[in-house]
Amino acid sequence: MTTTQPKPSSKHAIKGLLPGELAEFFVSIGEPKYRAAQVFKRLYAQQADSFEAMTELPAALRKHLAETAEFRPLELAHLQQSADGTKKFLFRLADGREIETVLIPSESVEEDCAPKRLTICVSTQVGCALNCKFCATASLKMKRNLTAGEIVEQLLQAQHHSDKPITNLVFMGMGEPMLNYDNVMKAVEIFTHPDVQLLGARRITLSTAGMVEGIRKMADENRAIKLALSLHATTDGLRTELMPINKKHSLRELGDALEYYYRKTGSPVTYEYILFEGLNDKDEDARRLQRITRRVPSKVNVIPFHPIDFTNPSGISAQLRPTSADAFHDFIKRLRELDVTVMIRSSSGKDIHAACGQLALSHGVEGA
Ligand code: SF4
Repeated sequence: MTTTQPKPSSKHAIKGLLPGELAEFFVSIGEPKYRAAQVFKRLYAQQADSFEAMTELPAALRKHLAETAEFRPLELAHLQQSADGTKKFLFRLADGREIETVLIPSESVEEDCAPKRLTICVSTQVGCALNCKFCATASLKMKRNLTAGEIVEQLLQAQHHSDKPITNLVFMGMGEPMLNYDNVMKAVEIFTHPDVQLLGARRITLSTAGMVEGIRKMADENRAIKLALSLHATTDGLRTELMPINKKHSLRELGDALEYYYRKTGSPVTYEYILFEGLNDKDEDARRLQRITRRVPSKVNVIPFHPIDFTNPSGISAQLRPTSADAFHDFIKRLRELDVTVMIRSSSGKDIHAACGQLALSHGVEGA
């Protein structure tokens, strides 16, 4: 998709500021500091859709804010709805780049044991540098980090398109959240702020491809959000082929970091495991997976692979196929026999390219 390149706004980015920063902004434009707390609540807790809508503020202040502050850091460019109710949003940023966000009615196919949820999967970067071989976002390369405001705004705008409240949030969209750690955590602080309470911390999950420094930082800061690791392989050889980041941080190093995280936070860990035919779906994989995941209390989300239309697949990308339905269920059964806690993730929205690893496919998102 070709996009015109709007000039970045000269107005101050007001979304994504924490209360103290918002107060400083008010002082900088000559407005009373105490108004900042009022505006903070209106932006997030009551989700005002413009400065003009904040009618409890004096008209002169509303006008001043509209002149000096940017209300929306991103615009909805396209919305698609899947047959299963999943919605995919294409958002255009102020610099013309594009990202995708997915709203999923339920993450699990095991409805009987899963509560009703509405989960938002948000992006944290434009593109990604990590080059995982099963992921469409990787083909975009890394363009830039999203600001805290651009991260928060994905939820605010998606909420307008649902009559049910968003109950869960996963940082599993485009980008590696640990490589944009400060902005991601700032967004978390806004979502969970006592004056906002959009989400409880335990309803937020950060999924990493295996950034050991970030895992240890989350542990040291005793972050209350949940942690997931995209594992996808049980040997360093295969994992390095699928996820080049494994060259930097081996499975052993990752296991050590997760143990450190668990000792500090007491939080169990979720492992994400996409099944690829003939590569990671055998009995020995199930046994190795059990050994890897028993180091700390954990569960494993097993995810079906949905093929990606690479233009010129090469190397391992050319070998990626979904495991057959029978082999998929045998693998789950084997894990359960080995006492591994397993959930089947449905990869909702595959008909609109909104499933795991597919973001950036349908609109040719380029990151400009
Ligand atoms: S799977 Fe995640 S970390 Fe890997 S390339 Fe895709 S967006 Fe980046």
